[in-house]
Amino acid sequence: MEKILNFINGEFTQTTHHLENMNPAYGKVYSTLPRTDSEQVQRTVEHAHQAYQSWSKTDVQERSRLLRKLGQLILENVDDLAKAESVDSGKPFSLAKSIEIPRSAQNFFYFADALISFHGESFQTNAQTINYTQYQPLGVVAAISPWNLPLYLLTWKIAPALAAGNTVVAKPSELTPMTAYLLSKLVKEAGFPPGVLNIIHGLGSETGHALVSHPLIKAVTFTGSTATGRLIGQICAQQFKKVALEMGGKNANIIFADCDFENALETTLRSSFQNQGQICLCGSRIFIEEKIYDRFVQAFVERTKKLQSGNPLDERTQQGAVVSKEHLQKIVGYIELAQKENGKILCGGTRPDLSADFIDGYFLRPTIIENISPTSAVNQEEIFGPVVTVTPFTKEQELLQMVNSTRYGLATSVWTNDLSRASRMANSIESGIVWINTWMNRDLRTPFGGVKESGYGREGGMEALKFFSEVKNVCIQHKLS
Ligand code: NAD
Repeated sequence: MEKILNFINGEFTQTTHHLENMNPAYGKVYSTLPRTDSEQVQRTVEHAHQAYQSWSKTDVQERSRLLRKLGQLILENVDDLAKAESVDSGKPFSLAKSIEIPRSAQNFFYFADALISFHGESFQTNAQTINYTQYQPLGVVAAISPWNLPLYLLTWKIAPALAAGNTVVAKPSELTPMTAYLLSKLVKEAGFPPGVLNIIHGLGSETGHALVSHPLIKAVTFTGSTATGRLIGQICAQQFKKVALEMGGKNANIIFADCDFENALETTLRSSFQNQGQICLCGSRIFIEEKIYDRFVQAFVERTKKLQSGNPLDERTQQGAVVSKEHLQKIVGYIELAQKENGKILCGGTRPDLSADFIDGYFLRPTIIENISPTSAVNQEEIFGPVVTVTPFTKEQELLQMVNSTRYGLATSVWTNDLSRASRMANSIESGIVWINTWMNRDLRTPFGGVKESGYGREGGMEALKFFSEVKNVCIQHKLS
């Protein structure tokens, strides 16, 4: 059985206690991971603090070279990483290989370039006085990531933090630690100085809590649930730490009758069920204009039924397993609630028929539910699985009221060919991202984050480099000769 190790100060280290790591497709333990205690967290942060003294002064070209090298190593190992990600999380290998692992490499390539052009400003105040700004690193940064896009979201945090001259202690999700462990091997191979990037494993309430609370941690970048984000936000507020929180969502996908039907349908299939609906950007509340409601829903159900569930490692599989037994039970609980509330299950809601090998795996057929009140918990709370609701609408005002009725506000898709309507909607929708006639169309230069209980602060592009820096104003007055 593979033993995942901590990566601290450039060395792979053991812990006294361990946790079990499950393969969700089989429902069986397949590796162990460290259960890092607060003393080990303390030592790790001290190593990172020591490493900061020289890393923060390293030439930008050298930082850029190392980030690029790490990105290249990810690409060279894309098959192994994608396989590991698939086994660890239950997601289809094809998805990890084609999108998530290559995008993890892109995170390093992007910030390797961005840091070269990251600069302050200067202001000529008068003939004697010049002001300039200087972006300085913060110190040791904690990066805490969730299980749904394990390597992608971890690298999304690590790359800009290191680029800006900080050292990092990262704690990936205890449910999907494998690719973070493989990344630590690549960090060593790339030749990063010891202590610059440390990756430690363990429970959120123990390892994560000790890390966030440590006084030498100057900033926390977190992606995960709103409940955990709230706890971390409170600790950071008390200690005046910088904090960026990327949290839960309940995104709307809005389909007007004048849309490009086929494009909206195909993309809705992905935005509903990609990665078994376990992407923070998935649109789980689908609002369809009444004029095309029946036609759209019928076609959507037909195509959803054809999605191939199965062994995540099989290249033909489109729907793998969800991440854990507890998560599956939570998702099924919402389906049962929908049924109690007279919701109509149009497809899914049950386990797919799979071979006996997968009898203990956490599988669920993609599920579409109709006739659910917009105020029901099914339409208000984050389910984060392969479950969507469909709701008809006629008037824009009534639609906006439903769309904005949740406590979340991460991303929304709007499908229409009417430009005026598209910009009206974009102005009025309460979310950090609005996609018009597209979904998950990411440009790493754009700011990323949610409003309301979906997010606090922005990551991505220059926003990320600014978040991981402190800006200083220097004012020089010289004598006029
Ligand atoms: P989670 O909050 O349970 O855990 C996320 C991470 O926080 C894990 O590494 C966990 O160990 C750690 N953690 C838990 N308690 C902690 C504590 N007290 N102190 C410090 N760290 C702690 O979330 P999850 O179940 O892993 O992820 C799913 C959630 O992530 C969903 O709500 C989803 O919407 C959200 N998410 C949001 C985005 C986004 O960009 N907004 C992206 C992906 C996932």
